[in-house]
Amino acid sequence: MIRIAIANQKGGVGKTTTAINIATAMAASGWRTLLVDIDPQGNASTGLGIPARDRDYSTYDLLMREGTAQQCIQQTRIPKLDCIPATQDLSGAEVELVGEEDRIDRLKTMLSEVDSSYDVCFFDCPPSLGLLTVNALSAADSLLVPLQCEFFALEGLSQLLQTVERVQQGINPSLKIIGVTLTMFDRRNRLTDQVAEDVRECLGGLVFDTVIPRNVRLSEAPSHGLPALIYDHSCAGSRAYMSLARELLGRLPAERKAA
Ligand code: ADP
Ligand code: MG
Repeated sequence: MIRIAIANQKGGVGKTTTAINIATAMAASGWRTLLVDIDPQGNASTGLGIPARDRDYSTYDLLMREGTAQQCIQQTRIPKLDCIPATQDLSGAEVELVGEEDRIDRLKTMLSEVDSSYDVCFFDCPPSLGLLTVNALSAADSLLVPLQCEFFALEGLSQLLQTVERVQQGINPSLKIIGVTLTMFDRRNRLTDQVAEDVRECLGGLVFDTVIPRNVRLSEAPSHGLPALIYDHSCAGSRAYMSLARELLGRLPAERKAA
């Protein structure tokens, strides 16, 4: 399975919204898809309709070896899309893992069991560059970075890129940045236009052509426990995520496009 981490240490930039909707788009394209929620806030799990009371086994158990991947995986209401949900106690995992020798690649090891059960796996990372995000970067082939179209969009990116470099030089030399996606674009706001232009100038072809617009349906959908792509598949936000998924597919290594 291809493993894609969705990370940016800034909060509220659209990581979870991107994870949920890209994963849904891939599943809709026939890919057997797994979304691993690595954020103790558990927003991706909620957005996929897994209530907190149903998270008996979670990413915490996986990282603590208290459950196998198979035990932690849950089906969602979306065909071909499964999820390992997250709970609050995942924040403790970061502390509990510190003394462990395999603290950096525990996630990778624990997921190997289901490697052939899925075509693609997404990691929805927390807003930090701590051990949870590092585990995702160690386990991933690729990194997808959501950037919010706001004045300080690029601020903090260098810190993320440094972390990526450290992971590449150490535990995961094959980690690649598959792309940067601009989120919450508001065409009525001139500033976001300027930001998008600056980001493209700075990062060039790394930036996906598709821009995710600010769209109220995208923010409403999670409260219904549904991806926007299911909640309202024709809204501007859903159409943008379908387009982003097509672009992402085009960037995946040809020999691995199994489905
Ligand atoms: P992160 O995971 O990076 O913290 P989220 O995906 O949770 O970010 O997004 C933060 C908030 O913004 C959420 O309330 C979400 O519903 C909303 N949001 C995300 N993307 C959009 C968008 N394109 N348009 C409108 N609201 C959005
Ligand atoms: Mg999030």
